[in-house]
Amino acid sequence: MAQEKREKAIDLSHHLSELSKARQTSPLKGLAKFFGQPGLISLAGGMPSEAYFPFANIGGDALIPDSFAVKTAGQESSLSWFWKLFGKTKERTNPIVIPKFPSKPDEINLATALQYGTSTGLPQLQKFIDEFIEKVYQPGYSDCASLIQTGNTDGWSRAMQTLCNPGELILTEDWTYPSALASCRPLGVDAVPIAMDKEGMRSDELRKVLAEWDEKARGAKRPHVMYTIPVGQNPSGATMGAERKKEIYDICVEYDIIIVEDDPYFFLQMSEYKPKSARDMQSAPAESDVQFLAKLAPTFVKFDYQGRVIRLDTFSKYIAPGSRLGFFTCSPMFSERLQRQGETSTQAPCGFGQSLIAQLLTTWKFNGYVRWLHGLATQYTDRRDFFIDCFAEEFHLQLTTGERGAWAGCTVYAASPKPRGDAMSEKYSVGTKMFSFVPPTSGMFLWIKMNFENHPSIKSDPEETLEMKLWTKIAEAGVLIAPGWYFAANEDIPDAGRGHFRISFSNAEYPDLKKAVQIFSKVTREFFEQQ
Ligand code: PMP
Ligand code: PLP
Repeated sequence: MAQEKREKAIDLSHHLSELSKARQTSPLKGLAKFFGQPGLISLAGGMPSEAYFPFANIGGDALIPDSFAVKTAGQESSLSWFWKLFGKTKERTNPIVIPKFPSKPDEINLATALQYGTSTGLPQLQKFIDEFIEKVYQPGYSDCASLIQTGNTDGWSRAMQTLCNPGELILTEDWTYPSALASCRPLGVDAVPIAMDKEGMRSDELRKVLAEWDEKARGAKRPHVMYTIPVGQNPSGATMGAERKKEIYDICVEYDIIIVEDDPYFFLQMSEYKPKSARDMQSAPAESDVQFLAKLAPTFVKFDYQGRVIRLDTFSKYIAPGSRLGFFTCSPMFSERLQRQGETSTQAPCGFGQSLIAQLLTTWKFNGYVRWLHGLATQYTDRRDFFIDCFAEEFHLQLTTGERGAWAGCTVYAASPKPRGDAMSEKYSVGTKMFSFVPPTSGMFLWIKMNFENHPSIKSDPEETLEMKLWTKIAEAGVLIAPGWYFAANEDIPDAGRGHFRISFSNAEYPDLKKAVQIFSKVTREFFEQQ
């Protein structure tokens, strides 16, 4: 797509909300164009003197880009916690220093980073991001722009306010990120959920909802905005492949819909889970960073030849959530409106964070950052493999291969507990299906679908009640997971009342992950045994 002749973004300004259209440029911003003029004595801005900034420099020791291996642990994943705890090699770091005043004109410096400036952020960071977008995302149109923001929570909130008027509806996945809905609901913007399968939002269901839209019955116009989490979907862990993205993009062109792609887990893409016995003794040979990039499912930006995608990227999962830094990738028209909005709230993300991250990225350079991301993706692959191996030790996991997109064809399900050879194990019939899940191929979540219809008290307790009863028992036993109902886009989705749990394998130490699965399985078994 990038190699073909690319056109400019088309005019999609009819999607702007009334609020966004009403935003004016601050007259003070008109001063900015003179700032680069040599010898200019600027007395116009209310800027404190850099001499009064108390920091002469800031810095720290940063890990080197190849700190984490790019070769998975293979069959050894269950031992890898041992190496992680006891076999740690010394962390190698390099110092990063940002002076207040630059010794060379283009050096990242605090005098600029901590001063008022434009809300587009540090130029060095902007340059890095622009090059990164061109090389990795390869936009399908020629004038694609970027704009920094303070993380995807801010990114979505700004995008939604720039696009939606009160009373409008937005398209989402059936199960979605609750904070995204929390930011639009108070503004009178509600979700229209679209059914999902193991690749996330279904294109046939999307088309059906749009084609059959009945404004009177729905009480609102057909949605013109979609909020989607296409990779390592929160909460389902689903990842959308290229074919599905293209289908959805084409439907959005047909029905004139803006896609807001909230993609915090994009670089945490993994290969399919294989049971331990099927994994190589020594693990697969390490891929090169070029292979790593080439295997990533493309983003919606790659299919976007019109400028109808607003992509949200965040450094939260790759550097740290507290960095509060991310960026939009979108058309110049949307970027300009989003910038106007930023000018009246955060102005720009914090200068300390921006300068540290800009210095880190420009020190690592493009190749170093890709190597870092590759190392992180491998870490999450090992964690995913280890976590699912723990389930395999507790339960009979049966692998089934579903057809493309068939949610029903879950690739793993947990059937009856392994016979323990004692009287207790005779109590429940072999084959009682307690739950199922699809091993995720991205991100940090395992989405478990409970089979409470097989629970002895299903006749007296609805599934929602059983979900919270079991969740409480698991929490009381010392493991906190997220109950499924938190993530339902609304109570009308077909699966809304069914039991689900979202379990994150991203953070706990390996022995704790193992212990958590043991507790989960013990409590769940006892729960299904009760009469
Ligand atoms: N309010 C007033 C009255 C100001 O003069 C300024 C700075 N010129 C601001 C707000 C902006 O403050 P901040 O940098 O904390 O966003
Ligand atoms: N969007 C999704 C889908 C997420 O899962 C998360 C984090 O959990 C966020 C946004 C928050 O991102 P940020 O830290 O960039 O605001």
